[in-house]
Amino acid sequence: MARYTGAACRLCRREGTKLFLKGDRCFTEKCGVERRAYPPGQHGQGRTRTSDYGLQLREKQKVKRMYGLAEKQFRGTMDAASRMRGRAGENLLVLLEQRLDNVVFRLGFATSRSEARQLVRHGHFEVNGRKVDIPSFRVKTGMRVTLCESSRQIARITEALEALERRSVPGWLELEKEAFTGVIKAAPTREDVTMPVQEQLIVELYSR
Ligand code: SF4
Repeated sequence: MARYTGAACRLCRREGTKLFLKGDRCFTEKCGVERRAYPPGQHGQGRTRTSDYGLQLREKQKVKRMYGLAEKQFRGTMDAASRMRGRAGENLLVLLEQRLDNVVFRLGFATSRSEARQLVRHGHFEVNGRKVDIPSFRVKTGMRVTLCESSRQIARITEALEALERRSVPGWLELEKEAFTGVIKAAPTREDVTMPVQEQLIVELYSR
């Protein structure tokens, strides 16, 4: 699968907002958005006129980049959200929140979603006692996500857990720190997505 390997801060600057793609660095004055609050590239500081389509596209790109998905995966998630009952935009955000890599990040085992994705891919987590290495795995209420016994000494994970006070664990998850386990207490709701997102624009983009 094609994967973006360029500078993460470029993506935030393009979207004009912090997407928190680089862990600890995002909370320092080295943050790219803090230092250069204009889009990247030669014409980044030029005049811009944004059409309705442009607004919709930027909103979609923002959410896609925030969760680290490729276009095809994102489109597939949108299609699944449209087939569910309720509002497609809200369903989309709920489905994205329920991804295993996002849950690992939200529980504090990693400082960014990309780091969480790598940890999952490398087989460091079990769900209900069985190893799962698929970042898009969808967690359900009652499931337990546990860091494998053999991975509990990994410095980057323990450091991430120690730095958790910067971010809070959302209400739909519960972290049992001593057991290196997260419990899915409930399904996430729209309110659990704290980043400013206008999901309706994404729905409009895909209904064109
Ligand atoms: Fe985005 Fe983090 Fe880079 Fe800031 S430091 S621009 S939030 S990735």
